[in-house]
Amino acid sequence: MKPLQQSSIAVIGVGTMGSQVLHRLAADGVRATGFEQFDVGHQRGAAGGETRIFRVAYKEGGGYVPLLREARAAWLELGAQTGVELLEPCGALTIGSAEDPDVRTVVDVTREWGLDVEQLDHREAARRFPQHRLFGDDLVLLDRQGGLLHPQRAVAETALLAEKAGARIHPSTTVVDVVDRGTGVAVHYRQGDEIQVAEYDQAVVCTGPWITRSVPAIARDVQIRRAVLCWFEAGPNWVPERFPVGIRRSGGENVYSFFPDVGGGVKINLHVEKSVVDDPDALDPVVAQEYVARVSAAVSRGLTGLPPKPAAVRTFMEGYTADNHGIIGRDPQRPNVLVMGGFSGHGFKLAPVFARAAVDLLGTGRTDVPIDRLSLSRLH
Ligand SMILES: Cc1cc2nc3c(=O)[nH]c(=O)nc-3n(C[C@H](O)[C@H](O)[C@H](O)COP(=O)(O)OP(=O)(O)OC[C@H]3O[C@@H](n4cnc5c(N)ncnc54)[C@H](O)[C@@H]3O)c2cc1C
Repeated sequence: MKPLQQSSIAVIGVGTMGSQVLHRLAADGVRATGFEQFDVGHQRGAAGGETRIFRVAYKEGGGYVPLLREARAAWLELGAQTGVELLEPCGALTIGSAEDPDVRTVVDVTREWGLDVEQLDHREAARRFPQHRLFGDDLVLLDRQGGLLHPQRAVAETALLAEKAGARIHPSTTVVDVVDRGTGVAVHYRQGDEIQVAEYDQAVVCTGPWITRSVPAIARDVQIRRAVLCWFEAGPNWVPERFPVGIRRSGGENVYSFFPDVGGGVKINLHVEKSVVDDPDALDPVVAQEYVARVSAAVSRGLTGLPPKPAAVRTFMEGYTADNHGIIGRDPQRPNVLVMGGFSGHGFKLAPVFARAAVDLLGTGRTDVPIDRLSLSRLH
């Protein structure tokens, strides 16, 4: 394997993962070129929708805690480098039934890893977070290392940092094929009406909801699903310092993530079965009234003081694997291509540390980032 510093790397998709990989490569002095089909920081990929949760007391399991600790430090560092706040450390709430398996995992992970999580009794929770209407057996857990991420801002600022460190980025440029030639890759891309070809030593393909199209070898392992987000008009009581981001798991349809008002209102993501997206270029923006009514009902049961109907309803998409862990590994059909995809609704917060793993793999084929659960072989 050629030393990374003497290599050229193409990064296909300058979104969540792509911007981080480019930044890391460029900071290490590697010749890196990014290709993005839209503008950098756009809303149409998996990073769309204004805000993301960052939490360390992880319902997906304690194995992620070391990665989350590293990611938290990385986001704060990136914020310092860019001069733009990317992670607001407002804490993250988990509110839900003590019987709920995910809530139990949060409790177990907190205990096992000695995390900075405060458990509030109902009186204290009502005093500090009166926006939530609590149910009888709800636990209220405040992850003090949690917070709110600004995804589009984070993608755009990280990409800018990568460019300042020497990376080249081609916006409005769609990659139509990456051919492995044995000694390197040929990237075929469309700019305007013309198809051009450029050669690199290796490529990273991280095309988010388009990943099954870009990497046929994982087409059966990743399903692209539609997420519906609803914004409710809110007042000054709903800003991050007073209404931290979080997850509600109080049984039935009282299961959703909630996000403070950062300009567009309070955002609610109801956790119900998501529809499958067959063509990511033709995401259906139409949401049935019955669905909106279900979101409104959950909001009026669980929150106090929001209007009954959302002011905005929008659709987004993300790739999911069968076990809800992402994929980072070599394309079995193209050894010079590293694949990152299928991050299953929780990949944003981990992007800086996944990027470090990717850059290690490009350089030496190994990484000390514990990403075994993201190996492609586990799915085959
Ligand atoms: C509604 C929603 C809520 C979520 N909430 C959270 C959360 O609270 N916390 C959290 O950690 N995670 C969350 N996630 C998950 C997280 O946002 C995703 O896992 C992450 O953004 C995936 O990053 P990505 O790089 O794979 O995809 P993207 O960020 O979409 O990047 C892929 C990029 O590739 C580009 N591209 C695609 N095809 C081509 C091509 N052929 N040529 C050139 N460019 C191409 C796309 O335009 C895009 O910019 C959420 C996801 C969604 C959809």
